[in-house]
Amino acid sequence: MLFSELGLSEEILKAVEKIGYEEATEIQAKTIPLLMEGKDVIGRSHTGTGKTAAFGIPAVSSVQKNDGNTVKILILCPTRELAMQACDELDKFSDFMPWVRTCAVYGGADIERQITQLRRGANIVVGTPGRVMDHINRRTLKLDGIRTVILDEADEMLNMGFREDIETILGFVPEERQTVLFSATMPEPIMAITQKYQRDPVVVGVEQKSRTVDSVEQFYFDVPMGRKTDALQMLLLAYEPKLSMIFCNTKKMVDELSEQLVSKGFRAAGLHGDMKQASRTQTLNAFKSGRLNILIATDVAARGIDVDDVDAVFNYDIPQDCEYYIHRIGRTGRAGKSGAAYTIASGRRQVNELMDIARYTKAHIERRELPTRDDVLAAKANAVTEAVKNCVMSGKYDRFAEQITALEAEGFTAEQLAAALLGMKISAETRNVPEFIKPVFRPERGERGGRGFGKSASVKVEISLGRANKIAPNFVLGALVDATGMAGKNFGKIDIYDRFTTVEVPEADKEHIIDAMTGTKINGQKIKIKLYDGKSGRDGRDGRDRRDYRGDRNDRGGKRDYKRSRNGGHNPAGTASRRSSKRYQ
Ligand code: ADP
Ligand code: MG
Repeated sequence: MLFSELGLSEEILKAVEKIGYEEATEIQAKTIPLLMEGKDVIGRSHTGTGKTAAFGIPAVSSVQKNDGNTVKILILCPTRELAMQACDELDKFSDFMPWVRTCAVYGGADIERQITQLRRGANIVVGTPGRVMDHINRRTLKLDGIRTVILDEADEMLNMGFREDIETILGFVPEERQTVLFSATMPEPIMAITQKYQRDPVVVGVEQKSRTVDSVEQFYFDVPMGRKTDALQMLLLAYEPKLSMIFCNTKKMVDELSEQLVSKGFRAAGLHGDMKQASRTQTLNAFKSGRLNILIATDVAARGIDVDDVDAVFNYDIPQDCEYYIHRIGRTGRAGKSGAAYTIASGRRQVNELMDIARYTKAHIERRELPTRDDVLAAKANAVTEAVKNCVMSGKYDRFAEQITALEAEGFTAEQLAAALLGMKISAETRNVPEFIKPVFRPERGERGGRGFGKSASVKVEISLGRANKIAPNFVLGALVDATGMAGKNFGKIDIYDRFTTVEVPEADKEHIIDAMTGTKINGQKIKIKLYDGKSGRDGRDGRDRRDYRGDRNDRGGKRDYKRSRNGGHNPAGTASRRSSKRYQ
């Protein structure tokens, strides 16, 4: 549909023409008229379908010349990048409407400047929920004149833990308003929000159009730390792909993983650049012929591999680059066949990395829960039972009936015999199914008033940044929590020295912590981490630097401060916020 058929003003049409859009996308054509009528709308369509213009054009159109300096429209976006992008687009749509004033507010940027900008006046405010809350609390953003609230990428915002902020914000906005929600997916919690905050919303859904990698269904799993291999095994057992490729970021990981899978009985082999050409060719041929059905590879080694029948791709490591992601998943779904790509993420940070990739590549990657052990066992049992039935009908083993008769003469019933045989067969097929047990809360660790952080249970790790790098304990704690997925209270004393920092950590988790932290950044600076050997004394221990920050951590979440400060926000020990969702801006 042409934009000129949507009843838009001259100014908007001119702007759209200048941007270069010719026709409205489906979601735009369907939602723009509804939004202009003032209806509450739920818009569902995948990434890349033009949702920003779908709400941006009506938003800009609705600003009146006499709206002056007051905020009329509030748009919430999950991340600062999306907020900035949306605001830029609004500015383009309002290119010929000089009276429209926009303002973007997001974390990680100087709040004073945003305050100045808000004070000068804005009709449309685009922001991340955390920062918007901040401005509401500081009374630098007044919501009483708001006519329209738009939640962009609502599913993403909920995934990021913004639900509470969103509900609080919606609570501040006058009830007499238009509430619009856009989302790529419509999970339960979104439906709950729409029911609570929208009035007779019109639901507009758009199905995904075909793109190059659209023959590939994409999923991700958020698995517990340290359980990626088990998760992979579970997926291989549950989905039983005929031919699959598993991608790792390093040669070392390829080697480790292939060793583990082979030891579990999978027909797997690794492929990477350090292997001799001959063995690479051999491996590749075995894979093409199906003798091996799992190929584990680095991105570089997989380049140029041309196998058409791969029905599943697994990303064991999150690809380091968006291009890699596209290449990896493009290994399946070829030659008109369907395929699936499964990414195994562990922890918030990896999930966020993947979501960034999804955004960039405009891919739709759906979250899935791991199949449970029970699911897999039940499926295997069914499959075996089915196979037995088929076998009976084929008459293939009728000749063994005599043996059954003999056993029956000994007093066994045919039923008992059949059950035992089925059981043996099923358990042989399922002995490698891993189990995921919900993590157990361990209250004895670091609990105040209790024995606390027992010496026997803890060791120290050393992080290669110190006072000289302008880091504070909360940055360190935040980084630890963020990278490891462990709770703040698992970490003990943090001692910051001039050039390094030590942290008391549970002995049992030391490897996981070092693994998870390796290569991460604190306050924008790459760190190194190792076990503390107690004599790093590159600089003398200075009593004034040694503080036990455990005490004041209990009433503050700790982690958000790290992000806030990483984003150049406030004093890490500041008091600005009590809500942990801040950290995602
Ligand atoms: P979504 O929010 O649904 O993921 P975006 O609003 O970010 O999608 O738009 C995706 C891309 O499509 C952007 O580059 C945008 O400029 C472009 N786009 C949006 N609407 C149109 C249109 N009607 N014609 C051409 N390109 C468009
Ligand atoms: Mg969008």
